[in-house]
Amino acid sequence: MSEIAQTFRFYKNLNHLEQKGAIMAEYIWIDGSDTTVRSKSRTLRGEIKSIDDIPVWNYDGSSCYQASTHNSEVILKPVAYYPDPFRSKEYNILVLCESHIWADGDFKELRPANTNFRHYARKIFEAADHQEPWFGIEQEYSVLEHKNKFTVKPLGWPSSGYPGPQGPYYCSVGATNCYGRSIMDAHYKSCLFAGLKIAGTNCETMPGQWEFQIGPVAGIEAGDQLWVARYILMRVAEDFNITITLEPKLFKDFNGAGAHINFSTTIMRSGEQGMDYIHQIIEKLKNQHIMHIQLYGDNSKRLTGQHETSSAEIFTSGVGDRTASVRIPSFTAMNDGLGYIEDRRPASDIDPYVALSAVVDTTVNDGAH
Ligand code: ADP
Ligand code: MN
Ligand code: MN
Ligand code: MN
Ligand code: MN
Repeated sequence: MSEIAQTFRFYKNLNHLEQKGAIMAEYIWIDGSDTTVRSKSRTLRGEIKSIDDIPVWNYDGSSCYQASTHNSEVILKPVAYYPDPFRSKEYNILVLCESHIWADGDFKELRPANTNFRHYARKIFEAADHQEPWFGIEQEYSVLEHKNKFTVKPLGWPSSGYPGPQGPYYCSVGATNCYGRSIMDAHYKSCLFAGLKIAGTNCETMPGQWEFQIGPVAGIEAGDQLWVARYILMRVAEDFNITITLEPKLFKDFNGAGAHINFSTTIMRSGEQGMDYIHQIIEKLKNQHIMHIQLYGDNSKRLTGQHETSSAEIFTSGVGDRTASVRIPSFTAMNDGLGYIEDRRPASDIDPYVALSAVVDTTVNDGAH
């Protein structure tokens, strides 16, 4: 057994040790890069019955691209909590937080920190509540291994040059095409332990690339669950001594990584307005195409019109079309508009609070926010 695997085993074996009533709480927040999460631990005592039982905390924002050193304190406001799969006892928790900073010198007023888009998304979701928006997000990611101290390469790739062309890798089985299944499985199980609505997972078109889906989840919670699923993925990868990247386009001649957003409203799930409603929704998305592209992560290299993507310049839609900006799944068309639509434009590095609230604001709120 490798040294890493042995360490991993040992660490898991600590799970049976008694904690004498104490709770290990891992506070998680989004840092100033808006693509990375950070976390630190704290011991809590007493039963946690609701989010209100978890205290507000703080961290050094100057070390997270979020604050200056002389006014470095960022306040962590817990917003959701989940059983911690790494300290696998139901009472140990992961605590997702919003970041806020003091607006003034007398500590009376808090304002959202630079990447706290959840704060703004909340209002957009509240306004759309009557249509109960559901989301399924397909998070694609690449697994990187360390070749030496300074360079990394996708898992399974040769130590120099490129692997064979795309074709055999998507949903593959077998050691010559599929790289990283144990990592994916550890992530899948851990998400289920945490109570996340992980819908599934699959090996992707570029070797060393994978996908998992979160959903369907209603409202802002879809964003919360995606961030926690990303955190769990980074933690699993750490145990395997490999790295996860959400970089949307690593290599020109291979598929990039997206975060397709599958979306439905109450009307779509009842089918009562048929395909007319689907077409109205798509028309609204088309009219705001440029704004959506700006809010959908870094698509500068990914949306080329090649490699199963649409063009960043032109909005298109179609039934079952994987080159379209927005795809109508064939089952939705077959069932006369009962179902959902898929926005294929979002890149893997989206902030889901930004991207999901853009979808909701354009389609349900008519851009009122
Ligand atoms: P693809 O065929 O594009 O690869 P996936 O199966 O990977 O699609 O992902 C589809 C996602 O859509 C899943 O997360 C699923 O839970 C979600 N989904 C299913 N029904 C709905 C719905 N009515 N509204 C929103 N999302 C949905
Ligand atoms: Mn210190
Ligand atoms: Mn998919
Ligand atoms: Mn995919
Ligand atoms: Mn998809």
